[in-house]
Amino acid sequence: MKRLKLFLMIPVMACAMMLSTTSYSVMTDSNVYRHHDNDCMKIALTFDDGPSPMYTAEILDYLQAEDVRATFFVVGTQARMAPELLRREEAEGHEIGNHTDSHPRLSRLPIATVSAACADCSVLRREIEACAETVYEATEMRTTLFRPPEGYCTEAISAAAADMDYRIILWNIDTRDWDNAMAADIAQNILDNVTAGDIILFHDSVSRKDSQTLAALKLVIPKLKEQGYQFVTVSELIDTNA
Ligand SMILES: [Zn+2]
Repeated sequence: MKRLKLFLMIPVMACAMMLSTTSYSVMTDSNVYRHHDNDCMKIALTFDDGPSPMYTAEILDYLQAEDVRATFFVVGTQARMAPELLRREEAEGHEIGNHTDSHPRLSRLPIATVSAACADCSVLRREIEACAETVYEATEMRTTLFRPPEGYCTEAISAAAADMDYRIILWNIDTRDWDNAMAADIAQNILDNVTAGDIILFHDSVSRKDSQTLAALKLVIPKLKEQGYQFVTVSELIDTNA
């Protein structure tokens, strides 16, 4: 049952192959995190693309009931419509990460093809800064983690993020809750593949009409707890010494 992990590896490998002329690889970039080894069973649940008026509150309710901390990579345009959800995320002990202001496809921006130190980061910088400002206005917290839309990462994107003092957070388990995966399959894939240090990708905002995210969480969180896993924010995970 490594099938879904393989799905994840394909775009990462394709990205690395595309960039082979510059010898850049997200796998060896020390500013890019997909997993962080530790010997205390810590893992990080992450939720992208919210906050969503449809799903975020009920996910927060369940995480609170289970006393689980997570990380929400929010989009600025979404966040400005629901600043109260950002405040709730922060107040309930979750971490808020930066997922740009408008969720652009970075592969289509000029920056994507810049290989050396960032020659034209202005669009990306504006995207990160606008999202950061929205988060700050709602919570008075500064974002320090950046997740590029679709996990698209190049040397230039990494350099721009580092220059802005952001760490880039990808993932090593994609639940595919944004696609056609059903709750039982999402849960089983996690249980089949999880190891300490994993960063697991969920979405609290999806375009599909029957989000399976909450149902999957209700299946998988109790089982992961039984196995001894601890749920921490991404910053806590990557600041834990292996
Ligand atoms: Zn996204």
